[in-house]
Amino acid sequence: MQQYDVEAPAWLPALNLWVQKLGLWRALALLAGAVWLMAVGISQLAITLLGEGNRVIATLAASICAISITSVFGYLFLSLVQHLDKAHKNMTRHATLDSLTGTFNRRHFLELVEREWSRAKRYEMSCALLLMDIDHFKQVNDRFGHLCGDQLLREIAEVSIETLRQPDVLARFGGEEFIVFLPHTDPLGALDVAERIRERIEALDFSWRGEPVPVSASLGVAALHAEHITLDHLISDADEALYVAKSAGRNCVRAGAGLLPGRSSVTSG
Ligand code: GH3
Ligand code: MG
Ligand code: MG
Repeated sequence: MQQYDVEAPAWLPALNLWVQKLGLWRALALLAGAVWLMAVGISQLAITLLGEGNRVIATLAASICAISITSVFGYLFLSLVQHLDKAHKNMTRHATLDSLTGTFNRRHFLELVEREWSRAKRYEMSCALLLMDIDHFKQVNDRFGHLCGDQLLREIAEVSIETLRQPDVLARFGGEEFIVFLPHTDPLGALDVAERIRERIEALDFSWRGEPVPVSASLGVAALHAEHITLDHLISDADEALYVAKSAGRNCVRAGAGLLPGRSSVTSG
């Protein structure tokens, strides 16, 4: 599902892969060999067409030119290809992924899901959205420090990914908020996924410098229905459901309009 935001010519990664497989020096030797063959061929063709010239001297001159020029410029060219491909991959990663958790970032999530959502709407396929917010996260930061909070966010992202299927899309939506798009998922299925994520987070055995850190999350669930004109409507439904989950005492799942109520028990966090 991941998309490249900054287009690169298709030959760039292919050429870089070739260089990586062969190694820079072998690739350079192959390139020099090809250029040498071409240079010698052209010099001999020129002598044939002109009808005069010394073939030995022409071959020698073509060989010296081809090998010396290719060694310098071929090395520069292949090094540049490696560098450009690496820079492009880094740029793509920064443009699409959240640097802390490695999940998609908000912008990329919206780009991906807008397309999926439109398709689901057009073909009347079911899909759902989960909005998850970590409970009392500020207290975790205040008590254990930001590094602990950061590590907790990474672990929460990890267990959430483990709970999801391959086509589901998880992203960090804001500070301690995550969003999940569930294609081909009916309301009951979405509640089930939300509940499983909540249970996995509640069961996280997370400690910081030997001290156990309490962790739980609240989730709001919304499923696509006819009144959702734009993706924002679906997100807004999930947001309202999340608000209800927070008001209900946290560490629970609540559903937006048109869905059955969540099954998880409400425990105060
Ligand atoms: P609630 O249960 O109502 O959601 O309470 P909360 O404390 O989780 O919510 P609140 O909005 O009061 O605080 C969210 C905190 O999340 C505050 C902010 O400093 C912290 N936070 C946001 N992004 C990051 C981050 O990347 N790393 C860390 N460590 N903390 C973050
Ligand atoms: Mg929040
Ligand atoms: Mg929170």
